[in-house]
Amino acid sequence: MISISNYGQTNETMENNNILLKEWTGPYGGVPAFDKMNIADVKSALEEGMRLNLLDIEAITKNLSAPTFENTIVPMEKAGKELTLVFTYYGILGGNLSSPEFRKIQGEMAPILSEFSSKISQNKELFQRIKTVFDNSLKTPLEADQQRVVQLTYEGFAMNGAELDEVKKARYAEINKELSTLYTNFSNNILADEENYVIYLTKDQLGGLSESMIKSAAKTASDKGQEGKYAITNTRSSMDPFLTYSTERALREKVWKTYYSRGDNGDQFDNNQNIVNILKLRKERVGLLGFDNYADWRLQNRMAKNPENAMQLMNAVWPAAIARVKEEVTDMQAIANANNHNITIEPWDYRYYAEKVRKQKYDLDSDEVKQYLQLDKLTQALFFVAGELFNYNFKPVPEGSVPVFQEDVKVWEVTNKTTGENIGLWYLDPYSRQGKRSGAWANTYRSYSTFDGKKNVLASNNSNFVKPAPGEPVLVSWDDATTFLHEFGHALHFFSAEVKYPTLNGGVRDYTEFQSQVLERWLSTDKVINQFLVHHKTGKPMPKELIAKIKQAATFNQGFSTTEYLASAIMDMKFHMADPSNIDADSFERETLTSMNMPKEVVMRHRTPHFGHVFSGEGYATAYYGYMWADVLTADTAEAFEEAPGGFYDKELAAKMIKYLFAPRNSTDPAEAYRNFRGRDANIEALMRDRGFPIPKK
Ligand SMILES: [Zn+2]
Repeated sequence: MISISNYGQTNETMENNNILLKEWTGPYGGVPAFDKMNIADVKSALEEGMRLNLLDIEAITKNLSAPTFENTIVPMEKAGKELTLVFTYYGILGGNLSSPEFRKIQGEMAPILSEFSSKISQNKELFQRIKTVFDNSLKTPLEADQQRVVQLTYEGFAMNGAELDEVKKARYAEINKELSTLYTNFSNNILADEENYVIYLTKDQLGGLSESMIKSAAKTASDKGQEGKYAITNTRSSMDPFLTYSTERALREKVWKTYYSRGDNGDQFDNNQNIVNILKLRKERVGLLGFDNYADWRLQNRMAKNPENAMQLMNAVWPAAIARVKEEVTDMQAIANANNHNITIEPWDYRYYAEKVRKQKYDLDSDEVKQYLQLDKLTQALFFVAGELFNYNFKPVPEGSVPVFQEDVKVWEVTNKTTGENIGLWYLDPYSRQGKRSGAWANTYRSYSTFDGKKNVLASNNSNFVKPAPGEPVLVSWDDATTFLHEFGHALHFFSAEVKYPTLNGGVRDYTEFQSQVLERWLSTDKVINQFLVHHKTGKPMPKELIAKIKQAATFNQGFSTTEYLASAIMDMKFHMADPSNIDADSFERETLTSMNMPKEVVMRHRTPHFGHVFSGEGYATAYYGYMWADVLTADTAEAFEEAPGGFYDKELAAKMIKYLFAPRNSTDPAEAYRNFRGRDANIEALMRDRGFPIPKK
């Protein structure tokens, strides 16, 4: 264990010199000094931040007065201010700008950070004070939001071993430390496999690919020193369009196998043993708290409450999903046969023939749709929707006034349209680059709170669009446009927060995807289509016929997407409900899929050896089901808007949604919040209708 005195080296001077620890200055309530960030400062900043945080905690526990909300919970909400600042930079360096140099620091710091948080979560004096405040609040209730903060704080500590005896506490902390190293290792292995496997094509291997794909593949290759070749990188944004359009079946198979083998190549980056080790440690840790398995422990404060409820939802949808896959494969096989392609549909054929079916059945050409989806216009569409629903205005900040960590990052000021009041800043990091994690995500650099002076929100969205060749517009697929709105939904959830205490900003994992999913629905509203989905050359809005086709094809390929998602979500849950003592990750995955009658033409969206949601941290462990859980709420809310007099722009309903489902964040129990909004619980039928599945009989 590291004692506080080990940090004795650090002093006032260092604190003053290390930019990562400094309070943010400049406009808009202060902004991170991304332009001055330096990897060399990270370690000492973290160490100093931890030291100061522990001093904050010590000041609370040394207080001789009887524990109260004001002398215990309020200073806890304020504690670790400097460390929070450092973590903003740490997050950027890990997620947006990672490098071998940084990964080394990450590997070194992960166990130290884990020990540090154990020191707080297992602090006996601190927990005693929290428990006293909590117990007193049960007799004499506090104000509603204070009551919720105390309850969440108490439960968080109890859930993480604060009530254990000293021997068990020591083991608990030891396990967390080991886990932190395994998590870092797991995610770095995926990143290594994504970076190390690039497939270079020659000119004669480009059959079926669009001009823009070829251009960006050529640019990627030349950036990697392979002038004259075409690079297919080992990421979803590269793999997915290649498998959809390439006419080269053998290459499709190669790209598919490379992508779905990430973390599973039997080499130094193989994750199979990491999975087993993680599962065993998680099981042992929750065992110390008296839980039978990790899933039971994890879901106790989720909206689903327990794994059985989550499994019940997934099992209700699964049969319809795999039945639909069968129909989709039949359609695809018929097209292959009609074209005298002498093949049986394999997983690497799915996207390719699905695209052909889409064209034939719905006469819908994804590439044609793409011509109307320009990143710039989509960004304007986000602002329009935020203006209509949230009454926000977005304006680019003056060039150079807010530091960014990379030249492609752009920043907007968000204000209230009526009062002009500043809500915060929105940062957008749109393009894929070496060292940036794949996928799309949203986060905050500063969250809203008022208890210690009103704080505005600094929120960011991050995507992996392929940076276009100079002078070319960024054209994106319908799916990517949907994801772009999704992540913006998270940002709006941050901006619209109206909570007094930071703890109340916390998300409930199977609920926080609702706010982002629901925003996706505005992409296909007429107002967005007519103003922003315009052809990149002619400037004409998407034709009515094309829109009709998109809407008609909305449930197309739901067999594939629901099945690939659910297979991952069910696997996540089953791994954590199983006994891991003699588990072999590879055969467990295979046997579980067989027992589920997984169609052989579809693979899990995230196979276990690269399921970073679940194994590179605990954020989404036994929580991947949460996307579908939230989607039940989403489908049900979308139906409310469809039925409203003003449709998706109904002011009254939008205001209600923001008041009950966005602004409170975690200050209200999610199930209660939803009932306040809808007057009843959400039900699964809306989701089944939405996906074009038959409604299960009761
Ligand atoms: Zn999300």
